[in-house]
Amino acid sequence: NQPLIEVKNLKKYYPIKKGILSRTVGHVKAVDGLDFTIYKGETLGLVGESGCGKSTTGRTLLQLLKPTDGEVLYEGKNLVGMDAGQLRKLRKDLQMVFQDPYASLDPRLTVGDIIAEPLNIHGIASGKERDKRVEQLLEVVGLSGYHAKRYAHEFSGGQRQRIGIARALALNPKLIVADEPVSALDVSIQSQVINLMQDLQDQFQLTYLFIAHDLSVVKHISDRIGVMYLGRIVELADKRELFSSSKHPYTKALLSAVPIADPLVKKERIVLQGDVPSPANPPSGCTFHPRCSECMAICRTERPVLKEVNGQLVACHLYN
Ligand code: SF4
Ligand code: MG
Repeated sequence: NQPLIEVKNLKKYYPIKKGILSRTVGHVKAVDGLDFTIYKGETLGLVGESGCGKSTTGRTLLQLLKPTDGEVLYEGKNLVGMDAGQLRKLRKDLQMVFQDPYASLDPRLTVGDIIAEPLNIHGIASGKERDKRVEQLLEVVGLSGYHAKRYAHEFSGGQRQRIGIARALALNPKLIVADEPVSALDVSIQSQVINLMQDLQDQFQLTYLFIAHDLSVVKHISDRIGVMYLGRIVELADKRELFSSSKHPYTKALLSAVPIADPLVKKERIVLQGDVPSPANPPSGCTFHPRCSECMAICRTERPVLKEVNGQLVACHLYN
């Protein structure tokens, strides 16, 4: 398996400013040192509660936000520090599907114009050829060519997300970062969109970074899953291993909230104490320690690093 994306020590800090001189008094560490690889053709799921830095990870990875530090290698080339012209060429390969299909589609444009926009920007096709391509893209996502003349508000949430996906596909990308693509949709529609994305992955050899706040959403589509907490990855493993033998106490808590089909299997719900702490003022040591039922003395002072334990990556002092 070949890496498509290698993320190294990726950071995104936002300054906290105070007073009339707006002095920088600290930093919100939204993403605080991520290392992971996305292999060609796989789906890497990324989960965590809201505010843990998942969206920031997706955006800094694609250079839609400028990282504070670190590298993002795309087929060996570092995207960080590239100028706009270099990035524009690679933009074709690296696309994003957004969370809110209501907000991300321009209401003044027809669906055809929305999907044609990337083709126009990159000068890929024009005139009849472009219209034909738009029609094909609509059909590929399960809509019809004649929908091109209509406006996004005439469609349901699920259909709008299909339009967003069609737009992302327009330039034949290699990687799609999908930032909670089904979170805004009815549960009954979610699996349809996930199934569509799975079909498209096979059809076009796509690689996905699939972001969600809920493990049940990424369960079917992911090959591997990374769990984030306060700007860091606390566990990363093969999907099957993560579901059958998760190691990190935070992952275990998230898993206990995933509904299971078999009513005979008894599962105890682990209720996490308190809220996610503010990334502006994270707890010392293991940032999960105030909420962890297995917290030890060392957890309050020393930050655990992500390391391999039986083929899984985990950042927790229980595995020293
Ligand atoms: Fe819990 Fe300590 Fe592991 Fe953090 S390092 S998850 S506090 S046991
Ligand atoms: Mg988000």
